[in-house]
Amino acid sequence: MKNYINKFYLFFALLIAVAGGAFLHFQFPITATGNAGLTSVLSQVKEVVDESLNPPVLPDTETQIPIVMYHYVRVVDKNKDALGYNLSIDPENFEKQMQYLKEQGYTTIHMADLLDKKVPKKAIVLTFDDGLEDFYTTALPILQKYGFTASNGIITGMIGAREHMTEEQIRECVKAGIELTSHTVNHFDMSKLTRAELKTQLVESKSYLEKTFGVTVVGLIYPSGRYNELAVQAARDEGYEIAATTQYGEAYLDTHNMLLLPRVRIDNRDGYNGFVKKLEAIESVKK
Ligand SMILES: [Zn+2]
Repeated sequence: MKNYINKFYLFFALLIAVAGGAFLHFQFPITATGNAGLTSVLSQVKEVVDESLNPPVLPDTETQIPIVMYHYVRVVDKNKDALGYNLSIDPENFEKQMQYLKEQGYTTIHMADLLDKKVPKKAIVLTFDDGLEDFYTTALPILQKYGFTASNGIITGMIGAREHMTEEQIRECVKAGIELTSHTVNHFDMSKLTRAELKTQLVESKSYLEKTFGVTVVGLIYPSGRYNELAVQAARDEGYEIAATTQYGEAYLDTHNMLLLPRVRIDNRDGYNGFVKKLEAIESVKK
């Protein structure tokens, strides 16, 4: 009986050895180059292990970006000043929008950063037109609270005028990392100017900002979004590398003319919900 059991075990052990051998033979066939099959399987296993430790790096840049356009950040009574209301965003509402951007993981960058033609994922440009005083008194502290930056289009002929930032306030903005762009000298309709007038508006504003504040100005904001072919050509000739209109939309850095970038206007009519809706619509069409 004992002998029979031993034989049974021996037979069973042999069966396992044969089956195992066959398995190994088919899994890792020994080829002319030696144990190449096994080596390749082992290297594949290693790759999988490496990948789990260091996941493959996905591209972290993209070529699409919303350029948001604000004007005043102040409280306006809609019934007393309808036009002013439409040009403004309520400070409380503005802060909620910045909070949303923070929560959604947005990074704020400058117009000049767009010249690379690629931007970090979820990047956004916040532009403020006209160099208004409430940018300094109201918007800047909120931007700083959330660690954000912005670009301000300065009308150099209006510096220190009523409702506009003084030279000292603009200097403080520059110190805080705010980008200055030109919004020309007099905010004239650029589609109605001669080549010589365009030159004055473009060159004087740019050189004034550069000399007074020690910055490099590459960006232009067309006053009231008005331009024609001559104006765009003049902007290019006078050293501007990037310009924004008031046309609605997200900027496509790979296809759009860099001197005609559209923007996403935000004011009291949008409020917080409208702001979120516009950004969500933009995100949803991204690849
Ligand atoms: Zn303007």
